[in-house]
Amino acid sequence: MFDKILIANRGEIALRVLRACRELGIKTVAIHSDVDSTLKHVLLADESVCIGPAPSAQSYLNVPAVISACEVTDAVAIHPGYGFLSENADFAEQVEKSGFVFIGPRAETIRMMGDKVAAIEAMKKAGVPTVPGSDGPLGDDPDENLRIAREIGYPVIIKAAGGGGGRGMRVVHAEAHLLNSISLTKGEAGSAFGNDMVYMEKFLENPRHIEIQILADTHGNAIYLGERDCSMQRRHQKVLEEAPAPGITDEQRKRIGERCAQACVDIGYRGAGTFEFLYENGEFYFIEMNTRLQVEHCVTEMITGVDLVREQILVAAGETLSYTQGDITLRGHAIECRINAEDPKTFMPSPGTIENYHAPGGLGIRMDSHIYNGYRVPPNYDSMIGKLIAHGPNRESAIGRIRTALSEIIVEGIKTNVPLHQDLMNDSAFIEGGTNIHYLEKKLGL
Ligand code: ADP
Repeated sequence: MFDKILIANRGEIALRVLRACRELGIKTVAIHSDVDSTLKHVLLADESVCIGPAPSAQSYLNVPAVISACEVTDAVAIHPGYGFLSENADFAEQVEKSGFVFIGPRAETIRMMGDKVAAIEAMKKAGVPTVPGSDGPLGDDPDENLRIAREIGYPVIIKAAGGGGGRGMRVVHAEAHLLNSISLTKGEAGSAFGNDMVYMEKFLENPRHIEIQILADTHGNAIYLGERDCSMQRRHQKVLEEAPAPGITDEQRKRIGERCAQACVDIGYRGAGTFEFLYENGEFYFIEMNTRLQVEHCVTEMITGVDLVREQILVAAGETLSYTQGDITLRGHAIECRINAEDPKTFMPSPGTIENYHAPGGLGIRMDSHIYNGYRVPPNYDSMIGKLIAHGPNRESAIGRIRTALSEIIVEGIKTNVPLHQDLMNDSAFIEGGTNIHYLEKKLGL
């Protein structure tokens, strides 16, 4: 087992990784920017290294600085968390070339999944259902592109192969706009992602976002850990997540889960990963794979009892998964609310000092957060300050528990989106379950 792990991230996820390391008896190194020296995991880590100034490009995204920190502290492996360098194939490659272990898939897997055209192709080959589309990048022949769109049927969506974070996409409702939209998306993709390759998909009008969690080791074993419903989104950003997804049957879960696990074996996947699908009229359509831990991994942990970070570390150290598919049973229901330092109505970030913090508790309540009294939320990073997770024997009880927890939580000194979550937990469509990806924006009048 590793002697020491460097945590290449900040905030709640860095703390989450630190906790898993401690339980495994592994020493930790925290790296941080100069405004982050008071982060909770920095205070708790065995060692810490300041790797640069506040802007991420000069600290958390600074590859040579991260690798040097590994060298000077004698850490043997790097956990990248989510965001920052977690899906950067060049970073993963550099880490391994420098003689350290990257806790995640191989660089070539990350690279393939980062190219959505290549990812879709690999998934099709593995029998994972995809969105009807252009089967590869669009060429320059306008007649051919018009033909493809006609065959798929309008509306269609033009997407950048190298896109991410909800950028580099354009919906086309009528043939008259197709060619212009393709060239506009190509132009934008070229300047934003350095890759002007675009492809076409059927635009699904009212889908839900449902994703499958998988774990794979380097001994040919891969398992699926059920699904999560992340349809409650604003600007393609998830606001709350739940597991299992309302209305998904055991049979559906098994069918799609087995496909995903098999795909992992086929591509030699290693570690934790997520297959993201759009779900409409009872069908799953693969859109992309995330080759890292997700923010919302906790709801899966609550209903399966599996510590996903621990498994990531064990797999990276070459061990076999601690579970076989037969060991995985889903128990009850879990919901996670992302708590952000932001105005609940305007969504403007609200950094500042936390003057009073009281975490909720009780049966089935989990609060993953790095904040504490007197902690200053810097304005430089993502506004998420924690995740409130509730687990109950069924969905109704999970909603009841999280509602109670939301009424108990106190965060003073900054604004948070707790009122939005309180509102959602009393929203009749949410309570009913199964709302689509447009529901929240419509509700908010956006
Ligand atoms: P990114 O990597 O930028 O997140 P995704 O491929 O995951 O891109 O798509 C992001 C979001 O865009 C999806 O969650 C969905 O809301 C919308 N989207 C993408 N493809 C389609 C499609 N074929 N039909 C309808 N909506 C889509």
